[in-house]
Parts: sequence; structure tokens; C-alpha cells
Amino acid sequence: MPEPAPGLAPAGAFVTRFAPSPTGYLHLGHAYSALKAHDAALEAGGQLILRIEDIDQTRARPAFEAALYDDLAWLGLSWPQPVRRQSEHMADYHAALARLEGLGLIYRCFRTRAELVQAVLSAPHGPQAQVFRGAPLPMAQEAERLARGEAYAWRLSLERARAHLGADYERLRLVETGDAPGTPKGPITARPDRLGDIVLARKDVGVAYHLAVVVDDALQGISHVIRGADLVEAAHIQRLLQALLGLPTPVYRHHRLLMGPDGKRLAKRNGAPALRDLRMAGETVQSVRGRLAALDVA
Ligand code: GLU
Repeated sequence: MPEPAPGLAPAGAFVTRFAPSPTGYLHLGHAYSALKAHDAALEAGGQLILRIEDIDQTRARPAFEAALYDDLAWLGLSWPQPVRRQSEHMADYHAALARLEGLGLIYRCFRTRAELVQAVLSAPHGPQAQVFRGAPLPMAQEAERLARGEAYAWRLSLERARAHLGADYERLRLVETGDAPGTPKGPITARPDRLGDIVLARKDVGVAYHLAVVVDDALQGISHVIRGADLVEAAHIQRLLQALLGLPTPVYRHHRLLMGPDGKRLAKRNGAPALRDLRMAGETVQSVRGRLAALDVA
């Protein structure tokens, strides 16, 4: 049997990933997520992959990336090399975008932030939907705005995706196995409409998170996506992208989010300690696990 390429998993294996964005120092909330993925891989005799989600080069910093390797090694994690850094694989994401464009499923959206808010507020289903659904501009208008050099984002057209998939659109399934409160478990029907016509690419950030993630999860043979409940909704749109791009769907395990003493989600801004600070203060992994267990009350 051929050896899998470095960083890629053999078919049929339990492979999960931790996929931080190097836009700040990792904190206790990240440790919780990383250890969940690590422990699940260990229990299943599988593998944990580390992926650096640094497509947003306006926010990613080498110092944060360097610190996260040290933090994760300190937590006892190990991962295969080379680590996939999204910024080095833009061609893969552009190929996926081109494929969607070839299928006629994306459109250029020239609306400014203020115009988007206005469009959402005056949507036919009322502002409670809070999502944007647009349409391509007539060709002549689009050509004119392009000629003027106006900025635009590529958006996925849910209307066209629905037409493309036909009855299958309503039958997209995903398997949720996490413990996030209020999230139904088991095979569930994906509801990609909830996020509206999402942005897949824009000028400053050449590709959006959802597109890069589905490409990478497939390329790296991820069988289980283990991550925080803040991304529950993301799985629904990612499921649609997988269907449109002919990619496999991993099992999803969204875990609940740790709350700080103020009852808010743990974050740097509400005082979640950075792992780096705990590490430098001489804490042990056992004490970090102890801290997490104390916060992990359902
Ligand atoms: N890069 C994302 C984050 O740091 C995680 C994305 C994912 O796990 O799908 O929140």
C-alpha cells in the first residue's frame, strides 16, 4: 500500500484536527478544544492534525504562530509534519472557487457594509432573518463597476445552489455527535439557508474561512471535526459546500463553550488566561486540566 503523503491520513482512519488562527495567543478555551481533539484521537487510536488557519494575513502574526506551537507541545500534543498553513495553499482554494464559478453558483457582490445592513433590514422575510441573500447584477452594470475598479466579494448563491442540487438540497445530512447545549444529535438535516449568501472570497482576504476549511478537511482526510459550539451553524453551510464541490463530509462534534466567571464565553478580552502566561508561570498540564475541569460544568 502506498504511504500517505505527509500530513495526509490513510482512508478509513479516525483523523481529527485542531485548526487555530494565529491572530492572538491561545487561551484556556483553546486548550479545552485542543485537548478534546487530542483525547478523542487517542481514545480512537487515531490521529490529530494541526492546521494553521492564517488566510487572513491582515491579522495573522508569526509571533502568535510560534507561541502556539510551544503552547500545544506543552499541553502534550504532537502532530504530523509538515503542518499545513493555509496561506501557502491559496491555489487550492482558488481552484475550488473557480469550480463553483464554473458551475454558475457564485456572484460578485459590490455592496458596502452599510448597504448590506440596509438590505438585511428590508428583506422580504423581515429583519429577523438577519442574513443577506442577493443576486448577480445585470452584466452591463457589473462590467461598468468592474471597469471603475470597485471592490466586490464573491458570494455563494443559495438560490443557484438549490437549483443545482435539486431535491438533494433539502436532503443534505450531517452527523452531529457533540455536547453543545441546544444542538440536536445524530444524523440531522443541514440548513444552509441560515447563514444566507455567504462570502467566499474578497479582495483583502483572498478566500473565506468556510471554503478553505472544506477544501482542507477533505484534502487532509479529516474524519471528525471537533471544535467549539460557536461553529455549529458553520457545519450547515460547510455541508452544502462539500456537496457542491463533491467532497466528503466528516462527522461533526461541536463541544460546549467554556464560560468565564462572568458567565460569558471564555475569551482573552474577559480575562481568560493565555496558555503562554500559564506556561511561563510554571503551571503544569495537570493544573491546566484541573482548571478546565473546574470550568467544565454542564
Ligand atoms: N480557525 C478557526 C478558529 O480558530 C477554527 C475553524 C474550525 O475548527 O473549523 O476559530
